[in-house]
Parts: sequence; C-alpha cells; structure tokens
Amino acid sequence: MAAESPVIEAKRRVEYLEIQARKLAGKCLSGRMHSVWTINPYRGCEFGCRYCYARYAHEFMELRDPVLFETRIFAKQFDAVSFRRELARVPRGESLWIGTATDPYQPAERRFEVTRRILDVIAMEKGRSIGITTKSDLVVRDLDLLARVAEQNTIHVHLTITTLDEDLARLIEPLAPRPSLRMKAVQRLTEQGIGCTVLAHPIMPLINDSEASLDALCGAAALAGAVSFSAAPLFLKPCSKQVFLPFVEEHFPHLARRYRERYNRQAYLTGDYPVRLRERVVKLIAKHGLKERGAADLTVVWPAEPQMDLFEERNEPRAANVLTC
Ligand code: SF4
Repeated sequence: MAAESPVIEAKRRVEYLEIQARKLAGKCLSGRMHSVWTINPYRGCEFGCRYCYARYAHEFMELRDPVLFETRIFAKQFDAVSFRRELARVPRGESLWIGTATDPYQPAERRFEVTRRILDVIAMEKGRSIGITTKSDLVVRDLDLLARVAEQNTIHVHLTITTLDEDLARLIEPLAPRPSLRMKAVQRLTEQGIGCTVLAHPIMPLINDSEASLDALCGAAALAGAVSFSAAPLFLKPCSKQVFLPFVEEHFPHLARRYRERYNRQAYLTGDYPVRLRERVVKLIAKHGLKERGAADLTVVWPAEPQMDLFEERNEPRAANVLTC
C-alpha cells in the first residue's frame, strides 16, 4: 500500500557545489558606487524570488536555465589568509557590501558558513564600513559576531521586506523566511545596537504598492527600531523578465498584458510611476519618523487613488537602480 501512495509534494532538490573564486571582494564599476566593494559568498540563491535580478550571475557561467539559479548553489571557497590580503588592498574610506547578487544568509549559509567566516576576518579590522543585505532572519545567528565587527568598524544591515502579507510573500519570495521573522530580525539587531534599514525592494505595481501596504510596512519597520526605509520600483532585465512575466500571467492574469507592454519595452519604469512612488514613500518615512536611504529629491502631486496607475505614460526621469536581495 505504501508503495502505491500518491505523491503529495516532492521536495525540491538543491545541489550545492564548491567554487574557487580568484577574489572574494570585487570593486563596483558603476559610476554612482565607485567607492563600494561587493562580496558575494555564494552564487545562486535558494530563496527563488520571482523578481530576482541576480539570475544573470548564473548566465555568466553558461547556466542559462533560470531555475538553476535556485537549485544549483555555488559556495565560494574561503581562505582567511588570502582574504586578509585582499582586504589590505581595499582603501579604508571605501565600503564593503556583502550580498549584492545573492543572499549571504540563504540556507546554504547554515552548512557552509562562508559569510560567517568572512565576518570573522572583518572583525579583526579597524575603520571599515560594512553593509549587509539579506532577506533572512539567519543573520541573527551572527549577532555576537556583528557586535564584534561594530566595535572598531561601522556596520549596517539592510533587511529586504517587500510586504507584510505572508500569503503574498510566499508567492513572490517562495522560500525566503516569512516577513514577520525578518521584521523580528530587525528588532533583534537594533536591540543589540546594529543599525538596520528596511528595504521594500522591489515595489511591483498594483501588487505591493498600495499606500496601506507601504504604510503598514514602514510603520512596522519603525516599531522594530529600523533607522531608515527605502522602496524602489521593480526593474526587469532579460534574465528576470523570463521568470517574472510568466509568474504574473499565472498569478495575476488581470495584470499580465500591462506588465508585458511596459517591461517588454524597457527594463525600468519611466513616467509618473517612479516619481509618485517616491513621493508616497517620502511621506510615509516622515510619518513614521524614519530616515531616507539616500536618494535624489523628486516632487510631484500626490495621487488621489489608493493604488498608483502604472500605465499612465509621461516623460519623467528614470528610476534609480537599486540593490536588491
Ligand atoms: S532577490 Fe535576493 S533573496 Fe531573492 S532570490 Fe535573488 S538573491 Fe536570493
């Protein structure tokens, strides 16, 4: 009888591989972030967010099936002595950012602890400026270590939380920890004196952009002790578009045509939308006594409707690129 039982659900198989990296820290070549060095302890990310832009990292390795980004995870080999040598070449005034193209606290970190070993070395440094971006409450495992890093360096953790709606989060970020756990992590970190920002990145038009949703998120971030809050609109490069647009077709069919029309034309939203979103966020940040996470000032008339109209075309400035994790 047991052999004849129907399969209810098969657990997704994830392969972990080890990869040799010539260097762990890479200088960011973007003009706007010229003094930033990025560190990505892993390649690929099991959280599998439907909008993830980092899938391009697997394309570089000729792994073109977008699903492989979530199922074939590479852990970078780590050698403390070589990493210390690398750090010696990073000027003191420049910052190190951990987790720009993968989540440094994804499930692989429980086993391989590459992020933890990187932080262990950084804890011996002085005068460094460190940023971490994650969508995982596993970061609180390293509370003591982060506190040690903070003794002689500055460190700031960015928790990405796009919605407080657990069902919606499960849909768009299927294997990431629940939003409530992430917010709890913000609270634990700030109680230990570690500065936190909540990133609502990305904001997906007509999915998680209502004023009520952003208000609840911003308010919860303030209650948890975050110092700042940021939200930025979805952008879809080809690697993420091939996953996100079919996802919209399946789960938000009433929005599919509009998303296709907009994002097939270009990766970034233009027109009123990014301007209105920013205006909405600035207002909420002020309401909840938080700070902005550096961005240019934009001023527009506040829209009357509860959700902004993505599809109203005007020639306004392009949305700024954002770090997402
Ligand atoms: S957006 Fe971040 S957390 Fe989500 S799959 Fe991509 S790298 Fe992982």
